[in-house]
Amino acid sequence: MPDKSALTSHLNLNVRGLPISATLGINERSHQLIREGKRIYKLGLGQSPFPVPDVVVNELRANAHQKDYLPVLGLPELRAAVADYYRRTQGLTFAAEDVMIGPGSKELMFILQLVYYGELVIPTPSWVSYAPQAHIIGRQIKWLETDARNHWKVTPENLEKLCASDPDRPRLIILNYPSNPHGYTYTDSELKAIATVTRKFRILVLADEIYGEVHFKGEQTSIAQFYPEGTIVSSGLSKWCGAGGWRLGTFTFPAQLQWLKNAMATAASETYTSTSAPIQYAAIKAFQGGPEIEQYLVQSRRVLEHLAHTLVSRLRRQGFDIAPTQGGFYLFLDFEGFRPGLSARGITDSVGLCEQLISETGVALLPGVAFGRPASELTVRIAFVDFDGTRALEAASLIPADAPLPADFGETYCANCVTAIESICQWVSELPTEATR
Ligand code: GLU
Repeated sequence: MPDKSALTSHLNLNVRGLPISATLGINERSHQLIREGKRIYKLGLGQSPFPVPDVVVNELRANAHQKDYLPVLGLPELRAAVADYYRRTQGLTFAAEDVMIGPGSKELMFILQLVYYGELVIPTPSWVSYAPQAHIIGRQIKWLETDARNHWKVTPENLEKLCASDPDRPRLIILNYPSNPHGYTYTDSELKAIATVTRKFRILVLADEIYGEVHFKGEQTSIAQFYPEGTIVSSGLSKWCGAGGWRLGTFTFPAQLQWLKNAMATAASETYTSTSAPIQYAAIKAFQGGPEIEQYLVQSRRVLEHLAHTLVSRLRRQGFDIAPTQGGFYLFLDFEGFRPGLSARGITDSVGLCEQLISETGVALLPGVAFGRPASELTVRIAFVDFDGTRALEAASLIPADAPLPADFGETYCANCVTAIESICQWVSELPTEATR
């Protein structure tokens, strides 16, 4: 008799009880609610609102016939274009051989954790998938405490404290800047100070710079400038090139870490084989840059900065304690100031808060707990991406580069995001007060 339990037992699963990733979960739920006829503002999944630039789409079209498996580390011309991109944009000296291409940086992060036997160190809050990847693989996780008043950033002191408790342990720290979920970034001197600690304890750094090109001022600096020998720089097409669904990520290794790249190549070759060929050919154009891509980036940053500013100002008027952000398309909002009114409505944690918000205002958000914050904290992530990026880019490009976008640009071209934030503010203003309780 076959053992039925082998077919039914969840204990045999390797995902250790984890559900589908929070980002994908909220996206699928939002679409389901929309299919049911509900009005939903999609501020859950962090997907670029902008189109893939035409020059890159044309390259994909021209390369649709590319059908061969490509080398596991990636198409040589693309690897060269990525190395050159880092030289051009950040003055980092990489060779084509230092670059690895993968089907999304998320997959590369997973195989990095798979092949590197080190404890994962991440700040709280951090992007939703770093910790679950470590859980699935069975790695230890150490959360680094941060302070909202310091924009949730890792400090050299906290990192030093964590490392000094067990100085020889192999560790991988992931630093993501501008950050998902909060939109703040590090100054050069902050990166330098962190680099001193990572060097002292020989920690492997994964610099997740997927939002680097949507730094509002276009001034991304990598920690690889200050700790080149121990830093892998991660990026991809998803956030700055509007191509999340294309699934193309890049890792760039220093000469000292080639052994790690080779180990990842082994894991990649036995799992996904190689990254989609047409996408890799098209990505060459994206990384080569040129006037159209430069214009696209300039206008994308302009729209995102303006919208972030509009939303932050509105939230501050409502009494939220939130500072202007510096890049990307996220805000990390704390409802602590409204706790009494929320408690009176039975809302005491971030999951409950997001549930009430989606059901009463139609605004889909992610709870702070998905980013490693304590469950009882009333934080949420807002992904301000529910707008027609093509239209917004066209409109912005008609306004002279040295003039600011008009004050009502957000209302006009990013109406869903502005309305969603208005609805949150209205909802908060209707919470029970001392007098009504
Ligand atoms: N990075 C995006 C987010 O945080 C979603 C992409 C993903 O989870 O794969 O919403």
